[in-house]
Amino acid sequence: MNILQTDIKFVPGVGPKRASVLNTEIDIFTLEDLLRYYPYRYVDRSRLYYVHEIEGSMPYVQLKGRITAFETIGEGRKQRLVAHFTDGTGFVDLVWFQGIRFIESKYKRNTEYIVFGKPSQFGSKYNIAHPDIEVCETADYRPEGLFAYYNTTEKMKRSYLNSKTLNKMMEGAFGMLKEKLPESLSPNVVESVKLLPLHDALENIHFPKNPILLRDAEFRLKFEELFFIQLNILRYSANRKEKLNGFIFKRVGVYLHTFYKKHLPFELTNAQKRVIKEIRADTVSGKQMNRLLQGDVGSGKTLVALMLMLIALDNGFQSCLMAPTEILASQHFITFKETLADMDIKVALLTGSTRKKAREKLHAELLSGEINILIGTHALIEDTVNFNNLGFVVIDEQHRFGVAQRAKMWSKNDRPPHMLVMTATPIPRTLAMTVYGDLDVSVIDELPPGRKPVQTGHRYEQKRGALYQFLRNEIKKGRQAYIVYPLIEESEKIDLQNLEDGYIHITELFPEFKVSKMHGRMKPAEKEEEMRKFVANESHIMVSTTVIEVGVNVPNASLMIIESAQRFGLSQLHQLRGRVGRGADQSYCVLVTPYELSSDTRKRMEIMTESNDGFVIAEADLKLRGPGDLEGTQQSGIPFNLRIADLVRDSNILYHAREVAEEIIEKDPTLKLPQHEVLKRQLKKLSGNRYDWGRIS
Ligand code: ADP
Ligand code: MG
Repeated sequence: MNILQTDIKFVPGVGPKRASVLNTEIDIFTLEDLLRYYPYRYVDRSRLYYVHEIEGSMPYVQLKGRITAFETIGEGRKQRLVAHFTDGTGFVDLVWFQGIRFIESKYKRNTEYIVFGKPSQFGSKYNIAHPDIEVCETADYRPEGLFAYYNTTEKMKRSYLNSKTLNKMMEGAFGMLKEKLPESLSPNVVESVKLLPLHDALENIHFPKNPILLRDAEFRLKFEELFFIQLNILRYSANRKEKLNGFIFKRVGVYLHTFYKKHLPFELTNAQKRVIKEIRADTVSGKQMNRLLQGDVGSGKTLVALMLMLIALDNGFQSCLMAPTEILASQHFITFKETLADMDIKVALLTGSTRKKAREKLHAELLSGEINILIGTHALIEDTVNFNNLGFVVIDEQHRFGVAQRAKMWSKNDRPPHMLVMTATPIPRTLAMTVYGDLDVSVIDELPPGRKPVQTGHRYEQKRGALYQFLRNEIKKGRQAYIVYPLIEESEKIDLQNLEDGYIHITELFPEFKVSKMHGRMKPAEKEEEMRKFVANESHIMVSTTVIEVGVNVPNASLMIIESAQRFGLSQLHQLRGRVGRGADQSYCVLVTPYELSSDTRKRMEIMTESNDGFVIAEADLKLRGPGDLEGTQQSGIPFNLRIADLVRDSNILYHAREVAEEIIEKDPTLKLPQHEVLKRQLKKLSGNRYDWGRIS
C-alpha cells in the first residue's frame, strides 16, 4: 500500500480521538490529506524584537529576556497569572487565564526565554496573553525561520487541536516516513517546468527552510493543483470530441434564406456574423457541438440562436430553447412568433403553468415532429418531454441552470444534440478556463449600432426628490422606468413588504401614471399580464424584484432605479442595468443606497458608475468576492476544491499549467503512455467518486 494512504490515526501525535475530529472537521482521513492541509500563513521566527520596539499594530512579536516576578491577580474565574518580563529595554506583562499552576511551576525567574505572541496595548503598557515560551539553551540561541499557521475550526480548538498541534502532527508525519514520498506528477512535467519534487515541496510548505524554498514549494503545489484541473477538462473534452458524433447540418435552405431576405429586422453586427459562422462550422464538423456564447446584455444573442434554429430546421431537425424564468420564456416565445410571423414554422411554449390538456397535445406534437421549435423553462427537461428529432438545444442565461439540468438535454435524442449555452454574465478568462474548460467559446463583443451606453449614477436615499422629478420627465417624454427592490430569501418577508410599501408610495406619488408590480410569488398569469401591460406601454413604471433581472427586453424603458443597491453583487447590478439601454435612446441607471456604506460597497458603486463593460465588471467582481462566490460556480464543473491556488492571483500559473496539459493531451489523449500512468492514477484519485462533471459542463 502507498504510504500516503496510511490512516491518519497511526500518525504520531494523532491517535483515534483526534483522528475522528480531523475526519469530521476538516476532511482529513489519510496521511496525504494531512500533508495536503496547507498553512494559510507564515511567521518569521528568526526575527527578534526589543520590548521598546513593540507597537500595538503588530500581529506578533518575538522577544528574548527574563521573567522578573510572577503575580496572581483576581479571584475565581477571573483569576489570572501575570509574569513581568524584561529584556533590558522595557517591561511587558505575560498573562495567562488558564493553567496558572502549571505555568507557575514550569517557568522560572531569571532564566533566558524566547517569548512569542500577539501584543495588546493597555494604556502605556503592553501585554501578551498565552504566549509561546521556549528556553534558550545557549546564549546565542534563536528559533528557526518561517513557522506555519493552520486554519482550525471552533470544534477543533475545543478539543485542544490548534495550529500548533497540527504543526506537531506534520512533524510526526514526516518523522514516520522511511523514504521520500512518491511523485504525483510525471517526470517530464517536473523536469520541463523545473518543479520541486512533491516530497520537498510538502516539506517546505510546512517547514520552510528559507523564503526561496517556500516560494518554490508554493509554486509547485499551485501548479499541480491547476494542472490537474486542466488535464481533467482537456482529457474529457478530447474524449468527447473523439466519441460523440454530432448531427450534420449540411444545408442552408429555404427557412434561413427566407428569413434572411424577408424577415431579418436589421443588419447583423459583425460580431453576430462571426459567431454564426463559428457555430455553423461546428454543426458541419460531424462532432457534437458544446459551445458557450458569451455576449454582454443587449448584444443580440437571441437572434443568433434563432438563425441557427432555422438552419437546424432546414436540415430536418427540431430545436429548443430553455430559459430560467417563465417571464423570459414567454417573452422569447412572443419574439420568435413575431419575428417568424408568416413563415410556416410551428413554435410552441412549455412552462410549469402549461395546463395538462395543452401539455398532452404538445407532447404529441413534439413526438410527431409537428412542432419545430420549442421554447420553455425547466419544464423542458422533464422525462415526459420527448422529441421526434431534436438536433439543436439553446440554453439561455445558462448560469442559472445546474450542470445536471443542462446534461439532461443531452439524452433527448439518440445522439446528443448540438448544445449552445448562452450567458450575459461575462466569465473572466481564468474562471472560464477552469469552470467551463470543456466548452468552446464564442464571444459577441459588439453592441448593435446606435446604442448609447447607459449613464449610471449613485444617489443616497435621502435625496429621492430630485430622482423622482427626473423619473417624471422621462415618462413624460414617452419612456418607461423600472424600480427594483432586492429580494433575498433570508429576509423575504421584509423585502416583500418593502416592495409593497414602495409600490404604494409610487402610486401615490405619481397618480398620473400607471404602475405595475411584479414579484416571484405572484401567479404566472398575473405576472404575464403585468409584463404584457409594461411591454405594450400601458403601464409606465414597473416596480419589481429581480425577477426582471435576466433577459427581459423592453426597449422603450430608459430608466432603471435600483433600491438598496448595496445589497446586490456587481454582476447582478450589471444584469439589472442591462434591462435599459436596449433601444436607441439615452438611458439611465440610478443606484440608491443609504449614506453609510462599507468600503467594499462604495467600491462596487464606483465600478458601476465608471464602467459599462461587462468584462471589466466581472473581473472586478472576481477580485472583490473571490471565485467561490461567483454566481453559478457552486454548481459548476470545478472538480476539486482549490486548496492553494487562487484564480485571481495565480492566473499566470494557470495559463502555464494549461499549456503543459494541452501538450500532454495532444500527444496522449487517453494518457496511456507509461510515463503518464501516474497522472492517470492521480486524476482518478482526485475526482474520486464525484460526479463526472467533465463530460457535460
Ligand atoms: P441579449 O444578448 O442580451 O439576449 P437580445 O438578444 O435580447 O440581447 O437583443 C437585444 C435587443 O437588440 C433586441 O431588441 C434585439 O431585437 C436587438 N438586436 C439584436 N441584434 C441586433 C442588430 N444586429 N441590430 C439591431 N438590433 C439588434
Ligand atoms: Mg437574452
